[in-house]
Amino acid sequence: MLENISERLQNALRFITRQAYVSDKEIAEYLREIQRALIMGDVDVRLVIQLTEEIKKELKETGEEYGISLKDRITYLTYQGLVKILGGEKKELRIIPNQLNVFVFMGIQGSGKTTTVGKIAHYLKKNRNMRVGVIAGDVFRPGAVDQLKQLLKDEIPLYSNTSKKNSIEVIKEGIEWASKLGLEVVLVDTAGRHRTEESLMEEMAQIINEVNPTATILVIDAMIGQQARIQAEAFNKVAKVGYVIVTKMDGSAKGGGALSAIASVGAPIIFIGIGEGIDEIEEFDPIKFVSRLLGKPDLESIISRVQKMSKEERLRAQKMVRGRFTIEEFIQQLESAKKIGGIQNILSSLPGGARLSKKDMEELFIKVKKWRAIVNSMSREEREDVTIMDSSRIRRVARGSGTSEKDVRELIKQYMLAKKTIKKISKGAFRNISRLRL
Ligand code: GDP
Ligand code: MG
Repeated sequence: MLENISERLQNALRFITRQAYVSDKEIAEYLREIQRALIMGDVDVRLVIQLTEEIKKELKETGEEYGISLKDRITYLTYQGLVKILGGEKKELRIIPNQLNVFVFMGIQGSGKTTTVGKIAHYLKKNRNMRVGVIAGDVFRPGAVDQLKQLLKDEIPLYSNTSKKNSIEVIKEGIEWASKLGLEVVLVDTAGRHRTEESLMEEMAQIINEVNPTATILVIDAMIGQQARIQAEAFNKVAKVGYVIVTKMDGSAKGGGALSAIASVGAPIIFIGIGEGIDEIEEFDPIKFVSRLLGKPDLESIISRVQKMSKEERLRAQKMVRGRFTIEEFIQQLESAKKIGGIQNILSSLPGGARLSKKDMEELFIKVKKWRAIVNSMSREEREDVTIMDSSRIRRVARGSGTSEKDVRELIKQYMLAKKTIKKISKGAFRNISRLRL
């Protein structure tokens, strides 16, 4: 599925992560390649430009943010941007408990409605353990009922009435039938192979009006690419589109275009069809989808690296590296260092940076607990500027924190030393450090 786009996106990411030094030139080249990949996949140019502009802007704004490499940030922003154009959070088909839920399928002829009705019926029965039935609302096409029978394989009850020539009547009878059977969900297949699009729309409006379903489900063929937007809007005018299912994602290079176009209309895509087989359907989850597009194992580690550190923590780390931090921030940094191994990363990423052994780190963490108590006993003024700590202040703080004066003096000494050392090693080196391969 979407192998061509996927390959290009992954190539672009590989290009950027293999650079020893990432400058604006490489970033521009990377973003151009992302644009090419998406436009080739029939994603609307406006969406593509918006995506790359946002990445550029975010990179500029957080250009010197510390604690995470530029390459990780580029990858993460690309991932986030793609998830956003595909609709963001995963949406689900909502089924109201203790009542019959009626879902009317709509879509132009050949889009895959009948097949999808069959797939969803089996899916709901198997995966959600629901009592589900189907109504053959396509009264015009002679083979429609047989097609459904084949798809449902005696496992799902089907209502049909081939003697009737009015689909609304058949659907109403079917709903009564479903209520009597005590079903929780009934899926209504609709059609009109011989009809023009306009009269199909009219009939749809009438069905919705008279049947008043729980929701409508629009079926769209991925092959139409970004035209899906126009189709979704057209149907939305006739009957509010509750959910969308995009079919034939397996065979189409334009699937990404269809998905992003539909998401941009605000219609929730809940499933994608990925083959002709009855179980070839999957829940649509933008996050999983993008992870697959970009190549999973790599991406997962980058996402967890970025998300492990909050923005606040990164800014603090940045201040730290520049030697501008208060004693409070010094302690905070040491405390979060345990969680993220951050201090180790930061120190070792600086030229000549220190490497602490595991034992050193453990001793440090025991000390940090004591230091935390000391800092908590300091006044706000003292925390902002420890140089005002004279012996009477030191005595007060030691008593207040249940430590010794020696402990307090040691903390102050370590803090001043850290500041001085870090300032010295980062001088000059800092400017380019965030752009180097970490
Ligand atoms: P309808 O006219 O909207 O009811 O469309 P059908 O359900 O009859 O489907 C039209 C054709 O599309 C059939 O040959 C289906 O097998 C095929 N089809 C439907 N969904 C998918 C899909 O996800 N992948 C592929 N490859 N074919 C599909
Ligand atoms: Mg059909």
